[in-house]
Amino acid sequence: STLTVQLGERSYPIHIGRGLLHRSGELLKERGIAQKSPLLIVSDENVAGFYLATLESNLQASGYKTVSFVVKPGETSKSLAVFEQVITAAIEGGLDRNSAVIALGGGVVGDLAGFVAASYMRGVKFVQIPTTILAHDSSVGGKVGINHPLAKNMIGAFHQPELVLYDVDTLSTLPPREVSAGLAEMIKHGLIWDADFAQWCRDHATDLLALDAAALEYGLEKGCSVKAEVVSRDERENDLRAILNLGHTIGHAIEAIAGYGEFLHGEAISIGMVGSALLGVKLGADPSLVDETKDMLSSLRLPTSLPSHLDTDRLLDAMMHDKKFKEGSITFVVPRSIGHVEVVKDISVSYIRRVIEQLK
Ligand code: ADP
Ligand code: ZN
Repeated sequence: STLTVQLGERSYPIHIGRGLLHRSGELLKERGIAQKSPLLIVSDENVAGFYLATLESNLQASGYKTVSFVVKPGETSKSLAVFEQVITAAIEGGLDRNSAVIALGGGVVGDLAGFVAASYMRGVKFVQIPTTILAHDSSVGGKVGINHPLAKNMIGAFHQPELVLYDVDTLSTLPPREVSAGLAEMIKHGLIWDADFAQWCRDHATDLLALDAAALEYGLEKGCSVKAEVVSRDERENDLRAILNLGHTIGHAIEAIAGYGEFLHGEAISIGMVGSALLGVKLGADPSLVDETKDMLSSLRLPTSLPSHLDTDRLLDAMMHDKKFKEGSITFVVPRSIGHVEVVKDISVSYIRRVIEQLK
């Protein structure tokens, strides 16, 4: 299927389906990506091992010249040093203003390659080929960037892709933990906006975990369209975009204080979404909301409680360093029921402390 994302006056297609890697040359041509200018493909070692040769040969068969740059997997590649290396590859590969940069990989590769596309020669075209479920989230909204040693995602830009090719066949090699973590962000889009979609994810958990192509296609399309809807309405309704942060305030704090690699992003926000449900109940939601949320998340093999070794004070401390915190209270995305959330300002830290204790 094809989804058109409309943001401001710009729009771009997200193709979701099987076998798209084998049609990439044709789809780039259809979208008007120049054939005279070289393409730069950015990928990581894991993904490149599985899919880079297929992509390169398909593009070359369609008449494209390609240059590839493969980075180490993981967040450390979103650095200024690696950014410089990719720019060097672009210059040496002869990329010009009509070239495109292609991201073949998950969120890390998408952020890095997208920022290269945003800044090389003041901006060239960007094509995204996401290979994780989590990356459906970052394929809409245009945020690209890298980390500074002092702060994550501190250096970046808004740069919308020209085209997104979501080949669900490439998801078949994802490690099971990455599958579940990606599904956390998928069901989040249901929990904030669309109760039926959240319930659909629950009902199709087995298919999704088994990487059934039809289930993935539907889930990714729905996830992308909720995100697109929220982001595009945000241009009119101020701050609506904040609801996309459901589970993220607690989730980011967990990621910040846990040992590196202990939690994947999706796992951390899963626990965070249970925390938000607990807070929702404290603020008046039906008490069944907590068990319903836990049931949905555990059906996707996601964690729903905090390991007791994570210190409450350190978690609170990490949250207060989050930019949303000010003067003894914090802004939180709080569910009212499945599919409906509210952004609540001025939640007192003592409330959050109790929620964290309950999460253990
Ligand atoms: P995200 O932020 O979207 O989860 P990352 O770029 O951090 O993505 O990727 C997560 C991990 O999964 C990395 O180690 C990456 O190399 C690996 N990976 C990404 N896509 C695939 C895939 N299709 N098959 C196997 N491993 C993959
Ligand atoms: Zn997230």
